[in-house]
Amino acid sequence: MPTPKLTAADLDRIRADLEARRATLRVEVKAQLKGSGDDRVVGLSNRLNENDDWAVADALAELDIAGATHVLNELNEVDAALARLRSNDYGECIDCGGSIAPARLIAYPTALRCIGCQAAFEKKSSGPPLTAV
Ligand SMILES: [Zn+2]
Repeated sequence: MPTPKLTAADLDRIRADLEARRATLRVEVKAQLKGSGDDRVVGLSNRLNENDDWAVADALAELDIAGATHVLNELNEVDAALARLRSNDYGECIDCGGSIAPARLIAYPTALRCIGCQAAFEKKSSGPPLTAV
């Protein structure tokens, strides 16, 4: 059986979903940062608001700001998926190099792994947390 492929219409829909998600996440990041009293955050946050300079997103993620980190992480995932769409390697499993099922990508547009590799990855990473040692 040939591997099912994403159609051009699927890709358009995924790209539109990702772009909408990115817009939502950017609004959320700005809202999260607004309440922060951290000086480092205020400077970066001003750059975001005044110049829409999202190059600071990585620096913000490193600050590990409560509440904003998971939003920034998701924003990174969405950006990475959009980059893969642009470079035409979207839908390729990062572990086995096979195609990720279209239905999975439509449900999880930021998916990096096919379902088999994802299951293996989760099994591997579900050991005791490193901080427990
Ligand atoms: Zn795989």
